Amino acid sequence: LNKVFADLPVTIFEAMSQAARDNNAINLGQGFPDDPGPEDIRRAAAEASLNGYNQYPSMMGLPELRQAIATHYGHWHGLKLDPMSEVMVTSGGTEALTSAILAVVRPGDEVVCFQPVYDSYLPIIRQAGGIPRLVRLEPPHWRLNEDMLKSVFNSKTKAVLFNNPLNPSAVVYPREDLELLARYCQEFDVIAICDEVWEHVTFDEHEHIPLITIPGMRERTIKVGSAGKIFSLTGWKIGFVCAAPQLLRVAAKVHQFLTFTTAPNLQAAVAYGLGKSDDYFLSMRKDLTRSRDRLTKGLESLGFPVLKSQGTYFLTVDLSPLGLNESDTEFCWRIVKDYKVAAIPVSAFYEQDPVTSVVRFCFAKKDKTLDTALERLSDAV
Ligand code: GLN
Repeated sequence: LNKVFADLPVTIFEAMSQAARDNNAINLGQGFPDDPGPEDIRRAAAEASLNGYNQYPSMMGLPELRQAIATHYGHWHGLKLDPMSEVMVTSGGTEALTSAILAVVRPGDEVVCFQPVYDSYLPIIRQAGGIPRLVRLEPPHWRLNEDMLKSVFNSKTKAVLFNNPLNPSAVVYPREDLELLARYCQEFDVIAICDEVWEHVTFDEHEHIPLITIPGMRERTIKVGSAGKIFSLTGWKIGFVCAAPQLLRVAAKVHQFLTFTTAPNLQAAVAYGLGKSDDYFLSMRKDLTRSRDRLTKGLESLGFPVLKSQGTYFLTVDLSPLGLNESDTEFCWRIVKDYKVAAIPVSAFYEQDPVTSVVRFCFAKKDKTLDTALERLSDAV
């Protein structure tokens, strides 16, 4: 049996969601909203199916969706993409990342990753024969710096895998950090695989800047996006890969034998959704900002030190000032059992030298869900 996979534990998201079910707990662990999602987009999916969008679509995705993705990024970021040679639809962001990694990484190649690292990256890099080189990011700012990059980039570095906005830390990286990373990618001739699935979920003054738009990165960046996060329909599993033709072509070769295509009616509905006016995206941010603030205030009033969330569905709490004498993992198992609220320990996103005091809560929930969770946690610390 394949050692890379046999030795892995069950993903923390599934483990915690199962614990939430077993304990009849409110699930603020795995990141998914508990409202039904935009009705017009769901209706568009139903209608597309009734109107015949049910057989294998083109392997690269419905032409109308590829066009909609190109138009969308042109509008939001001034990024000019050719929909036919630079855009591919995948079955979710995870498949998009897997296609990109398997396309780029050869045995012995080094791949720079940043801890906290999303749990699907390292097993796929290793399966490709790649060697992850881990950079350790730390609370409360989780920022990049030159020393970190200097210590891992070298002539064997083939790729960097960068998640921005960063799950679970809820950071939206400023231009300065992106320019630093871009400089190293160019100096060492490295391909950047960018997991930007949270690109529309940013708050306050924080705006997402795609790495592909930083000077010098257009030809060496594979940008990954996800309709699940853009429209709060996480189970739809519609992802996108955008990259220069020579990169996209190889990612497409991988994709053809991973999933080949993706449900056409869902693709048609996402194409419709991407055409929505800016108001839709801004009001989604406003709603999520309100939920973030509700959970932040509630947790703070219970005595939890909350780190500010700049984006994603998540906020984090740093337990270290509380003197609890337990790790983030112990804390999460205690509260799911004793207080019936599930959360995610951030140490699960580290392979070496974990930060063990930070816990992630998902706030993309109805007010009532958040309020009940807060009531339950009232004497947890
Ligand atoms: N992206 C989701 C999260 O961070 C989890 C998705 C999954 O369960 N694989 O919570």
